[in-house]
Amino acid sequence: MKVMKFGGTSVGKPERMQQVAKLITTGNEPTIVVLSALSGTTNSLVSIGDALAKGDKQEAKRIIETLEAHYHTFVKDLLKKEATFQKGEAIIAGHFDFLNIILKISFNEALNKDILAQGELMSTKLFSAYLEEQGIDHVLLPALDFMQIDANDEPYFDAIRVKLNRLLDQHKGTKLFITQGYICRNSKGEVDNLKRGGSDYTASLVAAAVKGSVCEIWTDIDGMHNNDPRMVKKTRPIEQLSFDEAAELAYFGAKILHPTCIWPAQQEKVPVKLLNTMQPEAPGTTITQDAGSTGAKAVAAKDGIIAIKIKSSRMLLAYGFLRKIFEVFEKYKTSIDMVTTSEVAVSVTIDTDAQLAGILKELEPFGTVEVDKDQTIVSIVGNEIAQTPDVLQKLFTSLGKVPVRMVSYGGSRHNISVLVPAAYKTETLQLLNKGIFGLE
Ligand code: ASP
Ligand code: MG
Repeated sequence: MKVMKFGGTSVGKPERMQQVAKLITTGNEPTIVVLSALSGTTNSLVSIGDALAKGDKQEAKRIIETLEAHYHTFVKDLLKKEATFQKGEAIIAGHFDFLNIILKISFNEALNKDILAQGELMSTKLFSAYLEEQGIDHVLLPALDFMQIDANDEPYFDAIRVKLNRLLDQHKGTKLFITQGYICRNSKGEVDNLKRGGSDYTASLVAAAVKGSVCEIWTDIDGMHNNDPRMVKKTRPIEQLSFDEAAELAYFGAKILHPTCIWPAQQEKVPVKLLNTMQPEAPGTTITQDAGSTGAKAVAAKDGIIAIKIKSSRMLLAYGFLRKIFEVFEKYKTSIDMVTTSEVAVSVTIDTDAQLAGILKELEPFGTVEVDKDQTIVSIVGNEIAQTPDVLQKLFTSLGKVPVRMVSYGGSRHNISVLVPAAYKTETLQLLNKGIFGLE
């Protein structure tokens, strides 16, 4: 069994969706296809929820109408036979009726999750109608029947595995399954989701649950690149990465893959491939247990970082000081990315200011607290990178006059991170592209 996941842009236009139908029917292996919502849809659904939360029904109605018009055009261009076209129209009507009913009832968070689920429900049903029109045998597996999160909003993997395999057993002989990315049920049985960009996570969970031969993530770029193509001119795709390297890259800014999606595939040792819908022959990036080679493979940047420095002479020779500081962050459920310490000061970074005020208030009694906002973490990721001495030398030689605020080295064997002011991000990425990868 293999898993193929297609993102929003891969299904966002009728011709793209038709291309997806070709890609999923080329091999002989039984396949589970995971689809995102059509590109832009989830953003619109978020806006509908936001408008309703503010009590602005007019605005919500306006967004619903615009979205509905978009889907009518989509169906007209996708489905050419009368019967399937009518089916497509009925699918849209059903989902937009639902959205219009929501306008009339009182809004709450559970309802918001229902709204957000409409995108993936529509994309998979429309795709299924297209497959039917093409005479391609398949079964639509409702993700809401097997995808589940627990009370902490984390995937409940054992339940997913049991339920999904039970469903698949009911369709012995079927070679092609279609299901929704992103959506799931929560511990209360309500419709929920795996957070924005969560379709990758669905794919990885599904691939792990069936112990698939491969989990293919199809997007509109030919794999993970060694640097951010929006910031530097020349980048190249990375052929092979280990799961650990890929997780670091995804977490530290490579947009192509959702950061949390690595662990299920890694746990069951299912290789992940990042492939390009527009260029299906390109090798893309393969992610396995094995890193393939040592040395620096890529740099990635994560924006919106806040650095917090706590300076205290009481830290001198004291024990338990770091624990107390970390406990403050734990209390506010805020994860720390980078840490550096000296004998009398500790600097940490966080990527959200949601709980900043509370955190700062509780840190104050420990000493002098300084905050630097608008920082960027630039990470150099590679295999055994901390054992490759020339990477460190190249890093600092290439950075030249860039004011580095923090350095994290040796924490993991796959990563060296520097913290720079956001204004220096592009320059840093360009300098490293030349200094480390020899690309200009
Ligand atoms: N449709 C969802 C989103 O846009 C999930 C996904 O595309 O992965 O966030
Ligand atoms: Mg997406």
